Amino acid sequence: MQLVDIGANLTHESFHRDFDAVLERARLHGVAQLVVTGASAQGSRDALALARTHAGLYATAGVHPHHASDFDAETEQLLRELHQQREVVAVGETGLDYHRDFSPRTAQLFAFERQLELAIACAKPLFLHQRDAHDDFISCMDNVKGKIGRAVVHCYTGEHN
Ligand SMILES: [Zn+2]
Repeated sequence: MQLVDIGANLTHESFHRDFDAVLERARLHGVAQLVVTGASAQGSRDALALARTHAGLYATAGVHPHHASDFDAETEQLLRELHQQREVVAVGETGLDYHRDFSPRTAQLFAFERQLELAIACAKPLFLHQRDAHDDFISCMDNVKGKIGRAVVHCYTGEHN
């Protein structure tokens, strides 16, 4: 069986020292492809750089709710450029996190809505994070219902519907 790890946080500095060994171990355990999570402007650039230089690696590009206060027009332009690259396979990590509130909720909502629009514009799936923000999360998703493609949500604290 071939596995795909869709949320590999491999841009973290803790992997710098033994990155190739980590990849090798993943392959030995049947993980044929890994999608490296981009969670900020710089993180998304780094994720793409890894994907470009390693076979079987892909990247997401997005801004995590924790970093939403950094999301501005420049970030959005960067994300648009990154999403033109073949190795970038999903928009995210994006979503809402009211558990930690590292960024103000208005900033989180703004960044999330812009990235939902980006996913529609570039017709890519979404890699989503939702924690203790169920109602706002669902209303954002309702606004784009029928326009977005596939999506995965993790850290999910709501109910199914
Ligand atoms: Zn997350």
